[in-house]
Amino acid sequence: MRPSVVGSSGSLFAGPVMLSSAALRQARGPKEPVDPWRPVAVCDEEEVAAPGRGIVCRVVFLAGAECSLTCAMCDLWRQTISGPTPAGALPLQVESALAIPPAPGLGVPQWIKLYNASNFSDPRAVPTADLPRIATLVHGFERVIVETHPRLVNDSLALFAGAIGGRLEVGLGLETVDARFLPWLNKQMTPDDFAAACDRLRAIGVDARAFVLLGLPGICAEESVELAVDAARFAAQAGCRHVSLIPTRGGNGHVDSLAATGRFTPVSAAAAEAALAGAMGSVVARCLVTLDPWGWDQMSGQCDDCRAPRRARIERMNRAQQWLPPCPLQCGCRHGV
Ligand code: SF4
Ligand SMILES: [Zn+2]
Repeated sequence: MRPSVVGSSGSLFAGPVMLSSAALRQARGPKEPVDPWRPVAVCDEEEVAAPGRGIVCRVVFLAGAECSLTCAMCDLWRQTISGPTPAGALPLQVESALAIPPAPGLGVPQWIKLYNASNFSDPRAVPTADLPRIATLVHGFERVIVETHPRLVNDSLALFAGAIGGRLEVGLGLETVDARFLPWLNKQMTPDDFAAACDRLRAIGVDARAFVLLGLPGICAEESVELAVDAARFAAQAGCRHVSLIPTRGGNGHVDSLAATGRFTPVSAAAAEAALAGAMGSVVARCLVTLDPWGWDQMSGQCDDCRAPRRARIERMNRAQQWLPPCPLQCGCRHGV
């Protein structure tokens, strides 16, 4: 059964002004220098495998070709090269990422993320001839997580899924299901396209993970939270194994100019807490929901006393997959639910 797109809170806001791909690109700053023969970064982090069960995941930020799409909030282009990914470069990057010892205190990674700042199923970004070698390199991992645009789910993912030893999971950006924001988002995709991509992945035995934007331009924090919860519910109904709430961040040019003119405010820590609690209470039980903690320390509405305990609570909720009482500290900050 296809999930239905739920309505917004009924505000009269008609949606932010849409810019063309060319205008979005014009708003960008310079790229960072990237060597296609070395990963941009490698780290280990804890992922949630099931409620209450954390697992160590090696995260490899691969250097390669820029995505041909131009989503309004995307900043991944900053660490990409301008031409196609050279053949042979990605296997070398994965090899060097696997040579790094596990992070102290976390244990040996059992999952791996291969994030290439573009679409893993695009041969310009991931040369088809390199897939067998990459698959061999990651053979020992229980789960391999890659990303692609929902409309680019294709047979290369089925081939890759069949060649790795573990389970393949594909991260898909849903972002929002509110129709007012789709033109602005410039993702060239509808929620139906997203649901169709999930169907296709399920048919080939591949798990889906959804990325949902927390924080949209032109609306208040409460409505942003509500829309993130709506999108999380939609993704869960579409069959995703995991929904990750990603606070919208600046840094790509366009979002910064919205922020500079008062048309976008990054969500506060209290709103992020409310979104995680709301999404956890709203999605079907078998779908995991987490809040991406990568930008937590930069969020507004926290002080030096409450930042760490509030972050720790979010990490505990991510792992436990259940609501936990808010930090009781009386520091003067407004805490979320
Ligand atoms: S599809 Fe992904 S990588 Fe490409 S522009 Fe959109 S968010 Fe960025
Ligand atoms: Zn505080």
